[in-house]
Amino acid sequence: MDHFVRRDGRLFAEGVPLTRIAELHGTPTYVYSEATIRTHFDRVREAFSTIETHISYSVKACPNLAICRLLQSLGAGFDVVSGGELARALEASGRGEEIVFAGVGKTDDEIRFGLRAGVFFFNVESRDELIAVSRIATETGSTARVALRLNPDVDPGTHRYITTGKRENKFGIDLVAARALAREATSLGGISIEGVHVHLGSQITDPAPYGEALDRLREPIADLRQFGHRIQWLNVGGGFGIFYRGGDAIPAESFAKVIVPRVRDLGCRLILEPGRFIVGNAGVLVTRVVRMKPSSEAGRFFVVCDAAMNDLIRPSLYGAWHAVWPVECAAASDVDLRPDEGILADVVGPICESGDFLAKDRRLPAVASGDLLAVRSVGAYGFSMSSNYNSRPRAAEVLVSGDRVRLVRRRETLDDLLGPERGLE
Ligand SMILES: *Cc1c(COP(=O)(O)O)cnc(C)c1O
Repeated sequence: MDHFVRRDGRLFAEGVPLTRIAELHGTPTYVYSEATIRTHFDRVREAFSTIETHISYSVKACPNLAICRLLQSLGAGFDVVSGGELARALEASGRGEEIVFAGVGKTDDEIRFGLRAGVFFFNVESRDELIAVSRIATETGSTARVALRLNPDVDPGTHRYITTGKRENKFGIDLVAARALAREATSLGGISIEGVHVHLGSQITDPAPYGEALDRLREPIADLRQFGHRIQWLNVGGGFGIFYRGGDAIPAESFAKVIVPRVRDLGCRLILEPGRFIVGNAGVLVTRVVRMKPSSEAGRFFVVCDAAMNDLIRPSLYGAWHAVWPVECAAASDVDLRPDEGILADVVGPICESGDFLAKDRRLPAVASGDLLAVRSVGAYGFSMSSNYNSRPRAAEVLVSGDRVRLVRRRETLDDLLGPERGLE
């Protein structure tokens, strides 16, 4: 569900035509819809309203400060996975006690930063890390509230690059090791183990793996409690899937139905770390067609755009499918054309890699150089995974609220690109 709608042949972000945003801010530009973010945040909040729940927005999905501020104003805390994200969350909210700090390789400096900020939880992923947190907290005379991230060895049925809760993944502590650690931790100073954390992966479209994972936590939680650790919080991570194309997502209630009774049964309060579910459908990437290039195959075209894999890497990295359609188009809705209509196209960028594409084998209405295209559902892991590859300045980001257009990240300039190297050559 989103607030990008087509009226009289033009695609709008809420009350604003995307053509106007392209005129104001150029292309490629990420355009976010505030109403869509609000709607999805509310859906999670309502679905989990029957139990005390902290919603910690996963900053890495879309880290823009304006988006973080918006979510904080709606009542969200933050889930961060690096010192940089911690700095962002602090700048957006100023409140360390609403931040959970995850990540398999926190450096000593990052742990110090988290302690200084007074984060709500360190989600600790290994024995080694627990010892480091204990040492640094003791040195600095503080106490770290810790949730042990356990690896339940559950298959969430998603892409293997975004599966994180299986035994062979680098994440979390396996359930056997957790028992030994529960005992060992009783002699470690500077820490208070009050929670257990799991995060199964991303773009999960079946609630069953959550149930399976939580069932597997019963024993480790009992063990931890037996050794005197007062486990009061269960952090179930993120991973709720969204709609990319018809029928590939389920409502938040379906996840709640599986998660809430189990968390209650374990006598815990709940922390959630949704990222994609909140912002995924809330962003489009507006790009301009630079060249139309016929392929050697008759009737096929390369639609060469000014956005590329450096702006949106999901198609190249995960084989992700995003709807792509002209911003201005007579058709009432963005529906698949009949095989005899329009053109057959690979929508590509200018980067020097054959893996540089935004969409492949799409039947599109006839488009021409200069036309605008919108790539849909790129609010999550879109801009946040962008890079400067091929020395391309990164795109602008715009937040739309009703009729209001706000530039929330200016387009990078050539000075931004070259500045860090100048004077060092
Ligand atoms: C990435 C991540 C999330 C968010 O995942 P989504 O699929 O975007 O909801 C939550 N928790 C942790 C620990 C993560 O690494």
